Amino acid sequence: MNKRQTALERAAELKGRIQDYMDVKDTIPRGMAESEQEKALEKKQRILALLEATEENWNDYKWQLKNRISDVETLTKLISLDDEEIAAVQKIGETYRWSISPYYLSLIDDNNRYDPIKLQSVPMVAEMLEEGLADPMAEEFTNPAGSITRRYPDRVIINVTNQCAMYCRHCQRRRNIGSDDHHTTRKELEESIAYIRDNPEIRDVLVAGGDALLLSDATLDWLLGELHAIPSVDFVRLGSRVLVTMPQRITDNLVGILKKYPPLFINTQFNHPKELTPEAKEACDKLATAGIPLGNQAVLLNGINNDKYVMRLLNQELLKFRIRPYYIFQAKRVVGTTHFRTSVDDGIEIMEYLRGYTSGMAIPTYIINAPHGHGKTPMAPQYLISRGKDSVKIRTWEGKVFDYPNKPTRDIKEFY
Ligand code: SF4
Repeated sequence: MNKRQTALERAAELKGRIQDYMDVKDTIPRGMAESEQEKALEKKQRILALLEATEENWNDYKWQLKNRISDVETLTKLISLDDEEIAAVQKIGETYRWSISPYYLSLIDDNNRYDPIKLQSVPMVAEMLEEGLADPMAEEFTNPAGSITRRYPDRVIINVTNQCAMYCRHCQRRRNIGSDDHHTTRKELEESIAYIRDNPEIRDVLVAGGDALLLSDATLDWLLGELHAIPSVDFVRLGSRVLVTMPQRITDNLVGILKKYPPLFINTQFNHPKELTPEAKEACDKLATAGIPLGNQAVLLNGINNDKYVMRLLNQELLKFRIRPYYIFQAKRVVGTTHFRTSVDDGIEIMEYLRGYTSGMAIPTYIINAPHGHGKTPMAPQYLISRGKDSVKIRTWEGKVFDYPNKPTRDIKEFY
């Protein structure tokens, strides 16, 4: 057989391996599809009419924040809910806070009871299941000063607010949401900065909450300036979901502030391709063009993205938005979120289906947060089958098994 013939046969085999995905990918709703944009536009007009607002209001994040939908009466005027669902929203609202930005609400498809945007934003009766813990990561025991969480040797989190543009139904920190919005006090932030300054082994600071980008421009400018001035801090990361739930927050003024403090990274949380809309793209483009690298930390959620095709499309679409898929988190055992939890098998199956089937750039690391704050633990299908003294047995993405030499590394000087 000649070389071209061999290559053609291999190409045909590879084409066959992707056919199942090609058959379903266009059936998965995605934010950039014209049909989804039309539905969202129609819903947006209804919201504007009901709230007596203008296009200019819509594009103003302060208006979005102030007009978050958080009462059943308004909600039922804007999305279709049956009596059972309305009763659930009322009941859950007595225990857990909910609030949805008009923008995120406009993405809900009324014709799909299990719409992924609706599942993430509208309370459902399953939240009353009492299984799980309020604080499975024992974060309450990792606060050495100010509003810091410290779980690793060289990096810390500063918690700056409990406010978010939308209170995700799967939130893993729902215990912090409480009944009102409040930012961390200036005194606590100063204590946090002092702690970082006094502990020079800390080189990586994650500013999170809540949503870090819900701090005012002035406070962010001050905080980032203080952190940037600490010689031992190599870089700062911001944890924010506004790119998903309120992209209007990415104003030119904010981008101008953020770009003053490189290297600065933003990690966000897109969980479904429907969330990747033209508005989100514009916001991502502004940040990426300003030199701010974007990463995605998806949460593996039952009924939303625990599907190998959905997760593959999500990660591929993220790259088009200039966002690097970074993590897929196994949902933690947080009380009120039982219905979102998946098996670990679901996660492993997704990872098995990504490796080899799509670009390495589109493959995040699948993580289980070990109980009681013992850290992020990567999970992967088994590619290393056995490890002998002189060789290892490996399995490829297609399931082919090979022996591969494992000789001791020789001193580099032997080669000169
Ligand atoms: S944006 Fe993040 S912190 Fe806020 S509710 Fe959603 S998951 Fe929780």
